[in-house]
Amino acid sequence: MEEAGFKILSVVMPVYNEKDNIEECLERLNSVLTGLGSSFEVICVDDGSTDGTNEILSVLAKKYPYMRVLQFKKNFGQTAALSAGFDHAKGDLIVTLDSDLQNKPEDIPALIKAMGAGYDVVCGWRRKRRDKLITRRIPSRIANSIISFVTGIKLHDYGCTLRAYRAELVKQVKLYGEMHRFIPALLGWNGAVIAEVEVDHAARTRGRSKYGILRTFKVILDLVTVKLLTSYSTKPIYMFGGPGLILLFFGFISFLIVAYRAILLHRLSATPLIFIMVVLFISGIQMVLTGLLAEINIRTFYEAQNKKIYIMKNKIHP
Ligand code: UDP
Ligand code: MG
Repeated sequence: MEEAGFKILSVVMPVYNEKDNIEECLERLNSVLTGLGSSFEVICVDDGSTDGTNEILSVLAKKYPYMRVLQFKKNFGQTAALSAGFDHAKGDLIVTLDSDLQNKPEDIPALIKAMGAGYDVVCGWRRKRRDKLITRRIPSRIANSIISFVTGIKLHDYGCTLRAYRAELVKQVKLYGEMHRFIPALLGWNGAVIAEVEVDHAARTRGRSKYGILRTFKVILDLVTVKLLTSYSTKPIYMFGGPGLILLFFGFISFLIVAYRAILLHRLSATPLIFIMVVLFISGIQMVLTGLLAEINIRTFYEAQNKKIYIMKNKIHP
């Protein structure tokens, strides 16, 4: 830790219905962290578990004094859980990992070592990922290529939670929806230096995955939001003006065609094609813009009130 230039490590773990995994996870984490020989804390964010995970966490918090538990009132999602962890972390280095043992706690020292080379973010890359091929690995490959292309921040594995962040940077990021995967891109756009480290990945042996194929679509929609908001939020005239000009251009073409037919060909009947084209264009663009306006609205709503995207039920060692 000290060689890497950090004083305190905060490990942030979202936990949702992981009663069969959490104990072993914390035990292995304990051996890894005590081996580091520097101060650390583990923040378990219980994302509204209903299977008794919270009771197990309360017991474990007595065993491990460095452990802090944040209990959500209900299931707010992995992004909200990570966000709460970042808000509460006291360390200058934050490591995030899943609590289902698919990420291996033993990989943490490699991330810290890489951070020591002066990076702001080190992302795990599950090169040999042990998940279902059709519903998880293939969609994930496609999503990783699209995200890398659109954001310009090239990573092999946007889906891996095992990552290390310089705390002061990641604490500034505002997260919404399912956006934790985009943190490296959001930071990278602001100049953060990012590295990738290959990490092990295990198949889930206990409990169930909380996600399916549907997540890929959510990820793509989140990508659109992230890209549009960061690229255009400070210059909305490009966003609104561009499509506006295109609309005017098509309107003008339609006008020319209609005028040509009326004046030179003396045909005054309406042409349905132009009508349909204009309607499609207007409604499509209106929908995108309405979505964007709604997104901006929701952000003002949260930020003006300084509202968190989660509600806490209880905290142990806050
Ligand atoms: N998780 C969470 N809230 C949720 C869904 C998941 O805190 O709403 C946690 C879950 O306990 C696990 C991690 O996020 O530690 C990753 O979830 P999961 O293993 O289901 O995702 P997968 O590995 O299948 O992508
Ligand atoms: Mg998992």
